[in-house]
Amino acid sequence: MLLIKKEKQLKDEITNLRKFGKKINFIPTMGNLHSGHLSLVEKAKKKDHVCLVSIFVNQLQFNDKVDFRNYPRTIEKDQFLLSEQKADILFLPNSDFISKNISNYNLGDESRKLCGKDRKGHFLGVVSVILRFLKLIEPDYMFLGEKDFQQTIIINKLINFYNFKTKIKVLPTIRNSKGIAISSRNQFIKNEVSLIQLLPQTLIQIKKDVENGGFEIKKINHYKELLEKKGIEKVNYLEILKVKNLEHLNQNYSMARIFISATISGVRLIDNILIERGVILVGGKVEMCD
Ligand code: AMP
Repeated sequence: MLLIKKEKQLKDEITNLRKFGKKINFIPTMGNLHSGHLSLVEKAKKKDHVCLVSIFVNQLQFNDKVDFRNYPRTIEKDQFLLSEQKADILFLPNSDFISKNISNYNLGDESRKLCGKDRKGHFLGVVSVILRFLKLIEPDYMFLGEKDFQQTIIINKLINFYNFKTKIKVLPTIRNSKGIAISSRNQFIKNEVSLIQLLPQTLIQIKKDVENGGFEIKKINHYKELLEKKGIEKVNYLEILKVKNLEHLNQNYSMARIFISATISGVRLIDNILIERGVILVGGKVEMCD
């Protein structure tokens, strides 16, 4: 695996690879790699494609300074895992890779929902660094995890707005044996695994409710209260939204996802699942469509 720290070297390397007909598969990460990240690497490794992974803890997307400072940094282990996984290039930009947000970009409605409500500035920070990467790398494909589904929608919009040729591949969330979405933040709450487990359990329960005759939307509050009663510090959101644009459901057929975010012992976690068949909202009830 080639380790590159300088932009110029990366640019030259990419130009060279393209001369040999290689396509660039890019995976942006913040490091502290786990099996979720590595599943993206696995999928990005294809004949005639170069698997390029970046590790950069982007300060702009942290709305909380302490969270940024405490974010786990494990570069040596990450490097080892990536070479074991046979990634082709690891790009490790300096901390000054990006210092300010793009100012003239309208993030749109999707960015004001879910994580956009209580993480002020988060998505502007995300698109700012992704735009920087897009301009530098011009990847053919970008591999993202559906765990951060809202982010995939916002990045897709950014790509279309700036007319990049990059196509996004959204890959399934990797979970542990307890159904918990693997995340760098889980390790901060080791002693409360049973609480973390309530997140996927709630998503699955609501999905089952929808499938078994419908789900009264007002029951969302009941689920939130239940979670907080069981010891979850705060449910930041629990919503069923359209996959396409994160809008609320209505009488029109749409594919939907159930989204949750909760804070446990000061650590903010997110998760979501797809309802595999189309749904409609009638009389305050989410129902399957035939
Ligand atoms: P991060 O390092 O948290 O910025 O994540 C980098 C990429 O890995 C993002 O596209 C995430 O959605 C993806 N990712 C993180 N956790 C998982 C997981 N458990 N399963 C699949 N993809 C993941």
